[in-house]
Amino acid sequence: MQLPGGLIIDGERRRDYSFRAVTGELELELSENALQATSHPARVSAVLLRALQRIAGCEPNAGLIGRLSVGDRQFLMRRLAIHIDDSLSWLSAKCGSCGEPFDIPLRHSELPVKAAGEGYPEKVIESALGRLRVRVPSGSDQELVARVEDDDEALRTLLSRLIRHADSGAEVAPESLDAGLIALIESQVEAMAPEVATELLADCPVCQQQNRVTATPYASMQRPTGELFSEIHRLALHYHWGEAEILALPRSRRHTYLALIDRTRGMRSAERFIEG
Ligand SMILES: [Zn+2]
Repeated sequence: MQLPGGLIIDGERRRDYSFRAVTGELELELSENALQATSHPARVSAVLLRALQRIAGCEPNAGLIGRLSVGDRQFLMRRLAIHIDDSLSWLSAKCGSCGEPFDIPLRHSELPVKAAGEGYPEKVIESALGRLRVRVPSGSDQELVARVEDDDEALRTLLSRLIRHADSGAEVAPESLDAGLIALIESQVEAMAPEVATELLADCPVCQQQNRVTATPYASMQRPTGELFSEIHRLALHYHWGEAEILALPRSRRHTYLALIDRTRGMRSAERFIEG
């Protein structure tokens, strides 16, 4: 699968990416407090910088990760969750109509993705202020806006970054934009921006009412680490390997060794049973 948006590198739109092998080390870093970051967007940048092997034909660096559109970043975070573990999981929901809790089966790889629209990542629109160039928001925009506490100020900050006079390249003062023009810009940006599904529809099994249920693209950042520690413990106990060695193993190899330990145990109990 390719990025739904992509990066423009030397005038060419590149949509390729690849992840590094998932090691225990990466899984540990994905856990809530391991990577230092000041905001959610900054944390997503840190995770992607750590997890990606290549992006748009390049070695990943903070600049490129920051340039990725918001939709591409959400897409990559979801693909990372799939890369780590795409087994069936359950979303817990509470019916908005009758209040009954219910569970919905979910496989992250089955959630839909909307590809970027025409003109991505920027286009020129005609307006009362003349020709304006508008672009879709990126990770860097998100990181910057996350530092602004006031909502109106945050919107002004974002708009001033996304809009330029098309011909002169000059900044557009956010105060000069009226509500109608802001709505036009928002709809143009939305049409261009790639997107991943962040909610799904599910019928309540009790009252049959349709509910909207949130499906986060950031599941890889919410994985509990308890199981990882118990796996480290079992491998250390059995093979006498150090923590760092175990954490450096790709997840699949770690699981192969754990399965071998289980098999040895099974054989030993069988022997004991036969020997009586
Ligand atoms: Zn219900």
